[in-house]
Amino acid sequence: METVAPINEIIDVIKESGGDAFKYCYQCGLCDTVCPWNRVRDFSMRKIIREATFGLTEIESEEMWRCTTCGNCPRQCPRGVEIIEAGVSLRRISTEYGVFPSPVTPVRGVSASLLGKGNPLGEDREKRADWANGLSVKTFTAGMEILYFPGCYLCYDPRLKKVARATVDILNRAGVDFGILGTRENCCGESIRKTGDEELFKRLAKENIKTFIENEVKRILVSSPHCYHTFKNEYSEFRVNFEVVHISQYLFELIDEGRLELSGEYGKKVTYHDPCYLGRHNGIYDEPREILKKIPGLELTEMVDALEDSFCCGGGGGRIWMETVKGERFSDLRIRQALDVGAEVLATSCPYCITHFEESRLALEDGDATEVKDITEILQEVI
Ligand code: SF4
Ligand code: SF4
Repeated sequence: METVAPINEIIDVIKESGGDAFKYCYQCGLCDTVCPWNRVRDFSMRKIIREATFGLTEIESEEMWRCTTCGNCPRQCPRGVEIIEAGVSLRRISTEYGVFPSPVTPVRGVSASLLGKGNPLGEDREKRADWANGLSVKTFTAGMEILYFPGCYLCYDPRLKKVARATVDILNRAGVDFGILGTRENCCGESIRKTGDEELFKRLAKENIKTFIENEVKRILVSSPHCYHTFKNEYSEFRVNFEVVHISQYLFELIDEGRLELSGEYGKKVTYHDPCYLGRHNGIYDEPREILKKIPGLELTEMVDALEDSFCCGGGGGRIWMETVKGERFSDLRIRQALDVGAEVLATSCPYCITHFEESRLALEDGDATEVKDITEILQEVI
């Protein structure tokens, strides 16, 4: 087996990166039984762990880039192995050596864009607030109730700009005192960190933290579970503590306090997909469902893999930027699950999930039978 990095270095890097827990693995293979990859092709995290324990990782191989950090296997592991952290530590070695297998090479361009423009999409920083043109959206100033942080995809992606616009429409109608950072907003850095680029993550995080502090931000409202996760659980590594609220929690709060009235009807059968970084990683399962249940006329149904067992869309861990061949896309299977329960609408609350589901919907012959909606888009129709 050919290796690029010296064996001792791989073992040391794994240890430094929290991957020392690999040594507790006793090769039971439970992780492989729950991994979504094994529904589309053979994949073994157990084998990756085995090789890494002996410093025999092939850093040119695509295998260690497959993990979407979905969070399904760590909760099953009887030995408490930090599987995700350890997997990311292997990617750090590849990033350091600049060795990327071909499906992973788009990450290079993403890194350059994040460095130069603060977003992974290669878009101009000056255009970051263009999605809000024509809407009544203020720039955040100290003393406002909440900072709305839409995140890169909602700022630039044409499909997802609709979600940002629906969100501010709802906030305005509820009379929320909010503002955005506009061109001062940077990528949160969550996903680039999972590709092993720790330095770039730290740079993005520090820039955001500086902006939050300078603007006296106390409460941050986010649309992306990835922003939520990193602001809440990873920025604390920089000894800061902001109150972070996901839009599903905030909308639930607004409805509960009577600040939002649901006057319209939504007479459709809807199923809800739990994004990995909202559900498994952060335990937010109830609020999105409670919002949907409160909508008059809406019939909520569950797919076969729901709540803690939700089936990953395939976009986490930086996979959103990597190529996944046809026939191996998790989102195709998820659309099929939505169709199987007769859902006219597949609702979720994550930009990566929406991106992948929209792609799969177009690729599948009968994909048209279901629409893909963010919960804000559904709510906007009934207020
Ligand atoms: S579930 Fe845990 S102990 Fe079992 S093979 Fe996977 S990492 Fe090792
Ligand atoms: S975190 Fe998810 S994708 Fe990664 S190895 Fe575990 S089950 Fe598979």
